[in-house]
Amino acid sequence: MALFEHPDFDNHEHVSFCFDKETGLQAIIAIHNTHLGPSLGGCRMWPYSNSEEALSDVLKLSQGMSYKAAMAGLKQGGGKAVIIGDPRKHKSDALMRAMGRFVNNLNGQYIIAEDSGINVEDVQIMGSQTSYAAGASARYSFDDSIANGNPAPSTAYGVFCGIKAATQHVFSSDLRNKTVAIQGLGNVGLRLAKHLYEVGAKLFVSDIYSDNLLVAQNAYEASIVDNESIHMLDVDIFAPCALGGAINEQSIDHIKAKIVAGAANNQLTNNQLAKTLKLNNIAYVPDYVINAGGIIDIYHQSLTNSSNHNLRLQLENIGNTVQKVLEKSSLSDSSTVDIANEIAEQALLNQSIKE
Ligand code: NAD
Repeated sequence: MALFEHPDFDNHEHVSFCFDKETGLQAIIAIHNTHLGPSLGGCRMWPYSNSEEALSDVLKLSQGMSYKAAMAGLKQGGGKAVIIGDPRKHKSDALMRAMGRFVNNLNGQYIIAEDSGINVEDVQIMGSQTSYAAGASARYSFDDSIANGNPAPSTAYGVFCGIKAATQHVFSSDLRNKTVAIQGLGNVGLRLAKHLYEVGAKLFVSDIYSDNLLVAQNAYEASIVDNESIHMLDVDIFAPCALGGAINEQSIDHIKAKIVAGAANNQLTNNQLAKTLKLNNIAYVPDYVINAGGIIDIYHQSLTNSSNHNLRLQLENIGNTVQKVLEKSSLSDSSTVDIANEIAEQALLNQSIKE
């Protein structure tokens, strides 16, 4: 498996392959860029079909974290980890502890947090082996609830603010009676559904598991739809909130929504697709711009002088950034991804020049 020649390598500073014989842990930790600060990123646990697929995912995700932190104005670098395995079948405390030890070996260059398949309790178990586990304790919450270290509520609120801004940009209206298709009702997707329902949006939802679909149906009057065709629905907004790749060569021409904006990382299988979306007159909100709420949350938890109010303000600022990216793209030939990348790369460069 080639690493330096990998199409997603993108000048990563460090990539570790982690294997623990006792627990069977197979994991990869990728550190993309530490110019702005130690790398921070969630750990995903997923039954990848092979290590090549896991490597590709972790490299793309960790590069996305660098851009996300820079875009959100945080003094954090980008990194990510993946554990190969099914979280519903293969997770154990011993596996989490083994992962914590590998993180500890990196001496703080990488700070681990939760992501899909890994919850706050798992991060706390990793935290028994390393002090470089974030989100395991928390001080602030944007809605004045008791903070428990789970960044998903902040991610969902940030995505909601981004969708509101995109709706204003495209339809010059608020979200009342707008139709939204949410693919993936996990930690973030279900909370996003609640925010959207509360402002009068009409919801269509899909997932590969039924538990949260029934919650959304009962609590938020959501219509459950077929997961294979949810992207084809004639709705105003398509919100990918599962894993990556919702927008690919096969799905792109079937999308009827005028806005694509959701929590999932790596929504596009390649950045060229952002140009196709623009040509198809669809406003695509780059994933790392709209889903920065989680990293913003974790960053605030590490500050001793922040507050619930400051956290909320920075999450709501995601709406302003989304507006800026969409406006700049609509005034030029550049896709929203090109515009966002330019802004993030400039932020990374400015900081490097200052140093
Ligand atoms: P999660 O694991 O809690 O939820 C993901 C949901 O998607 C699950 O309900 C799962 O069953 C469903 N799913 C998986 N594959 C699917 C498919 N092919 N079709 C439909 N549904 C499918 O994860 P999460 O924390 O809600 O994160 C969702 C996405 O948002 C991920 O891409 C994650 O990387 C990204 N994200 C999460 C956070 C966070 O704070 N949790 C922050 C930034 C980005």
